[in-house]
Amino acid sequence: MDNIKNYKCPCCGAALVFSGEQQKLHCNSCGNSYEVGDMEAFSENEAAAGAGSKYDWESYTPRKFGAAETGGFATYICPACAAEITGDANMGSLVCPYCGNSTVVQTTFNGMYKPDYVIPFRIDKKSAMKKLMENARRKIFIPKEFKTETKLKEIEGMYVPFWMFDCDADCDAAFSATRTHSWSDLSYNYTKTDHYKLYRSGNACFANVPVDGSTKADDEYMEAIEPFDHKDAMEFDTAYLSGYLADKYDVSAEDSKERANSRIKQSMEDILRGSVSGYATVITDGSSVRFSGGKVRYAFLPVWMLNVKYKDKMYRFAMNGQTGKTVGKYPVAMSKVAAFYFVCLAVFGGLASLICWFMLS
Ligand SMILES: [Zn+2]
Ligand SMILES: [Zn+2]
Repeated sequence: MDNIKNYKCPCCGAALVFSGEQQKLHCNSCGNSYEVGDMEAFSENEAAAGAGSKYDWESYTPRKFGAAETGGFATYICPACAAEITGDANMGSLVCPYCGNSTVVQTTFNGMYKPDYVIPFRIDKKSAMKKLMENARRKIFIPKEFKTETKLKEIEGMYVPFWMFDCDADCDAAFSATRTHSWSDLSYNYTKTDHYKLYRSGNACFANVPVDGSTKADDEYMEAIEPFDHKDAMEFDTAYLSGYLADKYDVSAEDSKERANSRIKQSMEDILRGSVSGYATVITDGSSVRFSGGKVRYAFLPVWMLNVKYKDKMYRFAMNGQTGKTVGKYPVAMSKVAAFYFVCLAVFGGLASLICWFMLS
């Protein structure tokens, strides 16, 4: 009897009592009745979805470079933002990819961990500049600073350190859903809403869930230029660094695990949510994710970075060095908008505001 008396009404939360007459569990508060078997299943599903997640990653030991491998490396220090970036000792003059400062100081190589693999640049500097130029040309109100070749030349190619997470995850998720049905008679309009509690279970295999290992690389930007295609992944060789920069991680694998956990949990909820259809509304109530022996690897991913200063504000652009996917916002040059507005006013009269608004949006 113990497990029966503990059941709570799914509708109102009141304790259920077994009604001998109905052979069902009955709620004295809201009047609903439930089959014992249904309540057992409900309770098991609730317990599974609310069990809490268990993430188990292997620990990661970083690998050091052999002395012979780093002979041609130098460390570049940015006095403005304190970035310490590794590159070829013959890079020449550099612009800091993180802040756009052009007085980066070259010093002797002072260490960096060896990545497990690298996705090499596919887009060279010329193509990266061309892409940014094309993006800028498409927008008529952006300031000329964003379209000049001397500025675009400051774009720097950098391997950003990423932690890559692999696991096979199981997940139980709970959803609340509704279906509505409306009808009318001569006097009233009626809407009936049915409430459903839905449970889904499934497993999925995750490979290369990326979390950037650099506090200086903006997480939002780095996620916006995903995905990277791991078909091009190569075992790291110092030759890939020639002409490019590389940052060393300052967020450990251990400290990146939480971000990986939340990305995996969110993906699992989205996958299971995708299997729910035919309802007017669906809300995710919660989920629990479980896996063990998740793998962690250290990788360098190719990113082009450019910083453009305009009216005392820095505008940052990042481009996936493999696919060309770009993120970054342009400012609007109000002088150009004003000039355009007066031309429109002369030609189209009252429609000028509408045209300007359309061009800005
Ligand atoms: Zn009830
Ligand atoms: Zn800097």
